[in-house]
Parts: sequence; structure tokens; C-alpha cells
Amino acid sequence: MEFVDSHCHLDDQQFSADRDAVIARAREAGLKYMLSIGTGDGPPDLEVAVRLADAYSFVFATVGIHPNDAQKSNLNTFENLRSLLRHPKVKAVGEIGLDYHWGVPKDTQLPVFREQLELAAEQRMPVVIHTRDAWDDTLAILRTVWAPVRLPCVLHCFTGNSEQARECLDLGFFLSFGGVTTFPKAAEVREAARITPVDRMLIETDAPYLAPVPHRGKRNEPSYVTHTARVIAGVRGVSLEELAARTTSNFERIFGLLPEELPPANSKRESASYTEGV
Ligand SMILES: [Zn+2]
Ligand SMILES: [Zn+2]
Repeated sequence: MEFVDSHCHLDDQQFSADRDAVIARAREAGLKYMLSIGTGDGPPDLEVAVRLADAYSFVFATVGIHPNDAQKSNLNTFENLRSLLRHPKVKAVGEIGLDYHWGVPKDTQLPVFREQLELAAEQRMPVVIHTRDAWDDTLAILRTVWAPVRLPCVLHCFTGNSEQARECLDLGFFLSFGGVTTFPKAAEVREAARITPVDRMLIETDAPYLAPVPHRGKRNEPSYVTHTARVIAGVRGVSLEELAARTTSNFERIFGLLPEELPPANSKRESASYTEGV
């Protein structure tokens, strides 16, 4: 069986003492790929995940400015992002979005989010979205700015209800379910996972955060994605094998790892000289 962890923070300090062992356990658990999220500690520290992707063939990376770091970004940050997006193992802009939980002013977050969506559209890259206590604003911006671009959008660590899931699905977006799906009180999230079409779903850990049951409250790691997969397979009434296979192939399709089916998500970069301004 092959799984993918579609969202993990392998660069996190919590892994500094045993990162190789964590990655080895993930491979033993059957993880084919991991997508390491490249937000680091915010600008200028944005290439952390790219370094990991360089070190491991099965690790891919994103780069982006997390909304909680929006105040650290400046013009240099965007130049830096643009050049990191040319790296062949960078597969998306993310995680980007809005987070009204930690008190970064909206006026600071909103333009950074919008500009990164524009950059992703210009570079023909998928986006990985973080939203917390900011559902309406996030969806409004994605609806107006991103939906017309018609490139993949992944709502990471989806913790909404089935109605919110449908809003995203109607816009053509993908939902990535994490450890919260396994929490006893998260019946609404499980219902969202139940009604999401199988070709629109991903699984993730968001490690080192939000470990699934039975590791809840401890450090999370990519190998634990199997616990979340088992719960989702259960609520959907499918085998773990099927859920693993479908979420793995979704990952490959969304992030352009199937060159025979779709052009790579980043294919534009080779021809940037004559496709500018799309
Ligand atoms: Zn997040
Ligand atoms: Zn994350």
C-alpha cells in the first residue's frame, strides 16, 4: 500500500534531533511521497523545504508566506519566491491564506495572500491554502481571484462542515484531511470527508502539529497519516487500500507528477520567455 502525506513541516525544529529517523519511519509505513511545506519561520527563511526536497528523492516542496508571517514580507521576498518557484521539486505556492486567530492585522495579511495567488497564477502553479477563523474572506478571495485561473487549489487541514466542503468542491477545489478528522468530537469533519468525491480528496498530517488519534497531543509525524486514512476509509465504507491508492494518485495528478497524463504543474517555467503575461 502506498500513501502520501500531502502536507508536513519536515523542516520544523521539533524534528531537528531525529529527522532522518522520522523520514525512515514514513517510508516504512508506505509513504510514497511527502510534500514539505516551505514557509519556515517566515521571510527571508523560505528555502527550508527546498533543501529537504534536494536531499530526498521522494520529498517535494512548496514555498510561500504563511499568513502569520505576512508582516515579514517585502519586495525582496517576492523576488525570492519567484526564483524558488523555478526549482524543479517545488510543486505549489503554499501554505498561503488568512489566519485571524493569532491577531496579525487583516490589512497586512490580505495583500500578501492576494499577491501570492497572482504569483501562482502567473507561474501556473497550484496553491495550498491555510484558513483559520477566516472562512468567509478566504472563500471570497479564492472565488474571485483563483477559481477563474482553473488550476488546483488544496484547502489544507480541512476542518469545515459538509456545507463548507460543498462550497469548495463547487469551485473545483480539493480538500485535504488531517489528524482532526480522527478526533472524537469532529463528527462534522468526518461528514465532510464522507461526502467529498474520491477524486477531490487528499490526506495529510500537518506534522509536527495536530497528531491523529491514537497519538493526539504528541508530536505528529508523516507515518501517522495512515491513522487518518483508516478513519476516512471507515466513514466512506471503502478499504484502506482503495483510499490509499486514490489519494496517492490524486496527489500525483494535482502536483504534476504524472507527465504522461498532464503537463507538470510547473511546465511553464521552461517556456517563460514566450508565455509571459498569461
Ligand atoms: Zn496551515
Ligand atoms: Zn501547515
